[in-house]
Amino acid sequence: MSPVIHVRGTVVLDDDREVGELWAVDGRVTFERPRTADDVVVVDGWAVPGLVDVHCHIGLGADGPVDRDTARAQAVADRDAGTLLVRDAGSPADTSWVHDRDDLPRLIRSGRHLARPKRYLRHYGRELADPADLPAAVAEEAERGDGWVKIVADWIDRDLGPDGDLRPLWPDDVLVEAVAVAHHHGARVTAHTFAAEAVPGLLAAGVDCLEHGTGLTPEGIEEVARRGIPVTATLLQVGQFDAIADAAHRYPVYADRMRRMHARRYQHVRDLHDAGVRVLVGTDAGGTIEHGRIAAEVAELVRAGIPDADVVAAASWRTRDWLGAPGLAEGASADLVVYGADPRVDARVLADPLAVVLRGAVVGGR
Ligand SMILES: [Zn+2]
Repeated sequence: MSPVIHVRGTVVLDDDREVGELWAVDGRVTFERPRTADDVVVVDGWAVPGLVDVHCHIGLGADGPVDRDTARAQAVADRDAGTLLVRDAGSPADTSWVHDRDDLPRLIRSGRHLARPKRYLRHYGRELADPADLPAAVAEEAERGDGWVKIVADWIDRDLGPDGDLRPLWPDDVLVEAVAVAHHHGARVTAHTFAAEAVPGLLAAGVDCLEHGTGLTPEGIEEVARRGIPVTATLLQVGQFDAIADAAHRYPVYADRMRRMHARRYQHVRDLHDAGVRVLVGTDAGGTIEHGRIAAEVAELVRAGIPDADVVAAASWRTRDWLGAPGLAEGASADLVVYGADPRVDARVLADPLAVVLRGAVVGGR
């Protein structure tokens, strides 16, 4: 049995509530001092509910699916960075076994990315030759996943030759049916979108979340805010758009667009925040980005101009609530991270946790 953990200092529960201490007993949170405890580990500092990475591909490497040992190492890297809840935003590997591993973060799987041949990264997604097959594929991935489905909504169309540019993958009516099917199966839908052109169709279909969202126009931002649709900004990923453009010299139109979105990325994220859009924290780890980089993504969002307290809330309690996952409540799983200073004041402390506590056990930190 794990020792009792006694956290003293400031325990942040949500935007409005904090307490001075909590205990982790038999893996569970309690705010009442345990009557008998021989073996107590005391941690002093600022505690928050375990961090949440909503765009993190456990089971995906640069060239596609990875083996179990590699996926496990990815999940451990995320965990050690304080990420104790992951929504995977698509994985080509079956990672349902992660649910049975007490030492790994909690995982909300989205099944496989749904894309079309030559219209996404090779070996990443499930490629549908006929776009009309999307609703049926959504139904299958919804059954396979943990309440989310991932659709790739736009990608470069290289068949256009030198005019090759970002284009939607799916007709609008197919998207409408696909999202309805997901909802019928009790799953929410998130969509990869870089381009402005894919957004109206996604919104009309009733999509639940947008990944990247770099193409959102001022009107699109207003609409997304009005509908309460969160956007995962993935600034670590968008920070690579200039390198993607450099590699796409055969497609000057596309390269130019990627460069413009790269140059505007901080202003764009600030526009989202200022419009009242819920900006989510997602590292997009697993393809070209290393796992365990949530503090770096948080730092990018702060650099864009979102206040530290809002970014930390998005990386923790607010997004747990939005995903339907518990925070720090009496009897809830003791999943929390303790820092040496208040991360709401300076989010840089996220890079250096004193203690990472998962299911009531100290699994990382100084
Ligand atoms: Zn991704």
